Amino acid sequence: MSPPRSYERRPTRQVHVGGVAVGGGAPISVQSMTTTKTSDVDGTLAQIYALAGAGADIVRCTANDVAAVEALAQIVPRSPVPLVADIHFQYRLALAALDAGVSCLRLNPGNIRKPDQIRAVATEAGDRGIPIRIGVNGGSLDPDIEARFGMTPMALVESAKRELGHFSEVGFSDVKISVKASDVTLMVESYRMLADEVDFPLHLGVTEAGPPPAGLVKATAGIATLLNEGIGDTIRYSLTADPVAEAVAGRQLLEALGLRERTGTDLVACPSCGRAEVDVIAVAQEAQEAFADLDLPVQVAVMGCVVNGPGEARSADLGIAAGRGRGHLFVRGQVVAVVPEDEMVSALVTWAKVVAADGADAALAQAEAGAADAAAADRAALIDAQGDDVNDAAERVALIRRR
Ligand code: SF4
Repeated sequence: MSPPRSYERRPTRQVHVGGVAVGGGAPISVQSMTTTKTSDVDGTLAQIYALAGAGADIVRCTANDVAAVEALAQIVPRSPVPLVADIHFQYRLALAALDAGVSCLRLNPGNIRKPDQIRAVATEAGDRGIPIRIGVNGGSLDPDIEARFGMTPMALVESAKRELGHFSEVGFSDVKISVKASDVTLMVESYRMLADEVDFPLHLGVTEAGPPPAGLVKATAGIATLLNEGIGDTIRYSLTADPVAEAVAGRQLLEALGLRERTGTDLVACPSCGRAEVDVIAVAQEAQEAFADLDLPVQVAVMGCVVNGPGEARSADLGIAAGRGRGHLFVRGQVVAVVPEDEMVSALVTWAKVVAADGADAALAQAEAGAADAAAADRAALIDAQGDDVNDAAERVALIRRR
């Protein structure tokens, strides 16, 4: 598998959320947030472990009351990843969360607005070497700022800058910032504007993106657009779903963009067409389930026909193409085995393990004798039966031209 892509990232300062560096050239991290009552120590820990297992590097828990903060004191030492306390309205809970030992605070400048309270939290965080995320949210802006700027990128950026101003009065600058909105265009424009004005690391997210699949699309549209411009140092999908889906989505987005080394299988599949010899959707789903927990960092293709499949998927590490009751198993586009249709997925798993362990060349060296010839015969027979143009496009074009 290729290593993470190196691309021009916006230079920023660096903060450390526990052992996770954010900004300043550090790998982009994935965040999520628990949905349990934080006061439920065991339930919250179980969810934190599930999130970490799915790819979350940092997890946020709400610190919405004293019971939650007391629970955090028990959760922090047992958590596999650094924890962020999410604070709204009550600055005393921020101070208490610092006592509990969290690795970062998130403050919403829209609902903790008294400068002396903000300065008190920043001073205490500074004394302990704990960073703060300024978490601006379009849905809970300071009313004074909203009245002045409307719901615009200027308003979100102004809110962050006002908070930075309070922090700077007490010499605190261990900061990362988010300017989230549920409107993707507003979110993208706000981050771009902020990136032009400050050099703090940025936490990206489309707030209240909603349930999948629309929520996934919205969040990806905003986050991926900015990441491809070099903007963004840590990301969170805000989905109305099990938060494990957020962590999976974050990790998969970074893998898809080449920004994180792949740990799991990348399954690609053709969309199917009139030439398909098999139910591609069913086989792809079967393969997705078979590879789900194997942690094989290979790209696997499921293709509907042997005529075009191996060629169309030759950049995949390996794949299977269906043809007349048999599957052609190919590695880097070259057929290495011909297997019965009902064994296609199990054969794919077997060969994927060989490719992952020993590499594609070693797998090619183990190609079964006669497989390539058998595959060529299947392919020729199918072209004979269906022609080169299975959708009869050439005939249709001729018809159109006669009009
Ligand atoms: S691989 Fe075959 S079935 Fe799949 S889209 Fe291409 S031509 Fe159609």
